[in-house]
Amino acid sequence: MKILVTVKRVIDYNVQIRVKSDGSGVETENVKMSMNPPDENAVEEALRIKETGKADEVIVISVGGEKSQETIRTALAMGADRGILIKADSNLEPLAVAKVLQKIIEKENPKMVLLGKQAIDDDCNQTGQMLSALLGWEQGAFVSKIEVDGNSVSITREIDEGLEMLKLSLPVIVTCDLRLNEPRYASLPNIMKAKKKPIDLLNVEDLGVDTSPRIKQIKVEEPPKREKGIMVKDVAELVQKLKHEAKVI
Ligand code: AMP
Repeated sequence: MKILVTVKRVIDYNVQIRVKSDGSGVETENVKMSMNPPDENAVEEALRIKETGKADEVIVISVGGEKSQETIRTALAMGADRGILIKADSNLEPLAVAKVLQKIIEKENPKMVLLGKQAIDDDCNQTGQMLSALLGWEQGAFVSKIEVDGNSVSITREIDEGLEMLKLSLPVIVTCDLRLNEPRYASLPNIMKAKKKPIDLLNVEDLGVDTSPRIKQIKVEEPPKREKGIMVKDVAELVQKLKHEAKVI
């Protein structure tokens, strides 16, 4: 079985986001970029499934600019077999990314597609669900445990009420939670080996997919600065302030 894993290049989670002075977006020039964190869990899980002999190939795919190759190389250094870069504007909306992925899935025929539960740049949490709808495949979102057994996949989902266990049938779409596993670090020899692993480059225009945006971004601005907090001496004073000053109770 082939496993396809999606990896998105995003601003590193440690970076303090800066809004561009013209309000057209956030600054990405000279900013540290990394693999979207839950995508690392997706890569790790695909590798673990392969290591148990239940998969024979792990393919990583990214949709974005030329530099997304670096993100693919990181996944290859972790142990993935080959990569695919779909060259496109890195700000494609989730529906457009899902349509692009659908095209590649129809060609590559994987039995399992692992995505991150959410990209930390747009926080959309939509791509996996949309992809599942486009393909008509079963899906598990926010997954913190995966067990593959023949043609079925038992998963545990992290939901608001607690944990939900589901049994799905292959082919499946799974979106991975950070609690799924601890991603491995790439060793130096594997980083060197990854340089020789193949990455196919495709242009999004050649896939015949409508990627036109459906959302018009008007302006990006910083959230208001948080006001300084105040200390209260006891609960009575807290209640009094909430009631008469903040007027929230
Ligand atoms: P989102 O729906 O934007 O929150 O993204 C959810 C997941 O979809 C991410 O964690 C990635 O695994 C995948 N994804 C979204 N956009 C891209 C992209 N441009 N390239 C590769 N994977 C992506």
